[in-house]
Amino acid sequence: MSDHLSDDVLSELREALEERRADLTNKSKKALEEISVKTDRGGRDTIDESTEEQSTSTLLRLKDREKKFLNKINGALERIDEDEYGRCLDCDEPIPVERLRARPTTLFCIDCKESRERAEKRQSKQRPTFMDEFDF
Ligand SMILES: [Zn+2]
Repeated sequence: MSDHLSDDVLSELREALEERRADLTNKSKKALEEISVKTDRGGRDTIDESTEEQSTSTLLRLKDREKKFLNKINGALERIDEDEYGRCLDCDEPIPVERLRARPTTLFCIDCKESRERAEKRQSKQRPTFMDEFDF
């Protein structure tokens, strides 16, 4: 039970999640349009293969991240439905409302999130920046 969250807060967070989902869909639609405009410009002959490859890989990366983030949003919404929302997946402690408001998709308390981030940093030195605005 997410008993530290009132129904009001839960429905507020549900709305925030749904808003993000709509926002994400819009953003990725726009990005797709931009890519196809770039690819279409001037016809096929003037586009060298590397430009086209670049667009394709950007597109794939975008789709991949979009999918991941959509999964997170849908997962959070499911957890609301199942009354599991707002508890840390690792330590089962309640996640503070302020944190949930700032990052409604979060599944971990700050402590667990930070230790995961440290572990991730050890694994790869490259930090993803492309979708940082979406607040993983
Ligand atoms: Zn935790």
